[in-house]
Amino acid sequence: MKSYRKELWFNTPNRVALINITSQVEEAVRESGVKEGLCLVNAMHITASVFINDDEEGLHEDFLKWLEELAPHDPDRYKHNLTGEDNADAHLKRQIMGREVVVAITEGKLDLGPWEQIFYAEFDGRRPKRVLIKIIGA
Ligand code: ZN
Repeated sequence: MKSYRKELWFNTPNRVALINITSQVEEAVRESGVKEGLCLVNAMHITASVFINDDEEGLHEDFLKWLEELAPHDPDRYKHNLTGEDNADAHLKRQIMGREVVVAITEGKLDLGPWEQIFYAEFDGRRPKRVLIKIIGA
C-alpha cells in the first residue's frame, strides 16, 4: 500500500473566503502515484472548512449569506469571545460546513460526481493556515 501526505497553505487577504482547491488535490493524487484508493482532505484549523459542492458564484454568495444569518460576525454575541478572541462565529461556521471530505481515487483520478468540486472555506483568515491531504491506496 502507498501512502502520501501533503499540506496546502493559505493566507487569505479577507477574513472570509471560498477557494476551489480541486486542481491542487488532483495534483497531489498524481504525485502520490495511487491508482486505486482514498483521498482525505481536511482543514487543520477549527475556524476553516473543507467541503464539496458546485463551483457557482451565486451559490457561494448564498452560502456566505446563510452562514452570516446563522452565526453573524458580532464580537459581543458569543461567550467564546470573552476569552479575548473575536472568532466565535468562525468556529460555528466551520462546524456547519464541515472539517473534511473523503474522495475515492479510481484509475488514478478523483472519482467526483459531475458537478462536485472541492473547496477550502476560510472564516477567520488573514494569517497562514493549512489543509492536509492524505492519500492511501495502491
Ligand atoms: Zn476561537
